[in-house]
Amino acid sequence: MGLRLPIDPDSVKGFLAPEEGEALHDRALSRGALGPFLEIGSYCGKSALYLGTAAKRAGQVLFTVDHHRGSEEMQPGWEHHDRETWDKSAGAMDSLPFLRDTLRRAALEDHVVALVGPSARIASLWRTPLSFLFIDGGHSRANAFSDYRGWTPHVMAGGLLAIHDVFENPADGGRPPFEIYERALASGLFRPAGGVRSLRFLERLGAHMVDEEA
Ligand code: SAH
Ligand code: MG
Repeated sequence: MGLRLPIDPDSVKGFLAPEEGEALHDRALSRGALGPFLEIGSYCGKSALYLGTAAKRAGQVLFTVDHHRGSEEMQPGWEHHDRETWDKSAGAMDSLPFLRDTLRRAALEDHVVALVGPSARIASLWRTPLSFLFIDGGHSRANAFSDYRGWTPHVMAGGLLAIHDVFENPADGGRPPFEIYERALASGLFRPAGGVRSLRFLERLGAHMVDEEA
């Protein structure tokens, strides 16, 4: 069993467990007939490998958003820093070359479109309804809530919202992703739709519901 991917996910740097990746792939594919997918937080393309594979299978596109300068915890001296992502001439991180390498090796360049820039800027001009939205960008409260406010209105009825690093217990990790998960539920616009590890799914309520049993 198991999902067949074009390249080994272990060959891609990143922050996603294989079972989370497979869940992203399967749940996005289930919405593939409705419209395109979008993720915030490309990094080196690990989640994009799973979601891009689903997009290709569905004849869809995955948009993947990142400024590629890293989150706070990825900066030098912090827990998740990777020296290979340091661009000496820029004096800053740059994960874009790794993303491009992943997409090229996986033959996903036709199905994954990289949007390079600050998430909030791109969201402010976004107009396209999304069948699947994955929030895995900055984990500060400001970033998490700006992604929530900027992107979740674009999830179409019957579409799915996925949020990574949802930790109910503060001892397990920072809480902003959990807080936006709670906010989405409290909005009355989403219902819980399962999850694996720190990944949670929510379904956008409204017309054109997708029948899970069908
Ligand atoms: N999904 C990836 C991990 C993403 S890590 C995987 O599967 O491995 C989070 C990413 O969010 C980082 O690459 C960081 O550069 C990006 N990020 C953080 N804040 C951002 C912002 N405000 N705008 C755009 N990208 C941001
Ligand atoms: Mg994450």
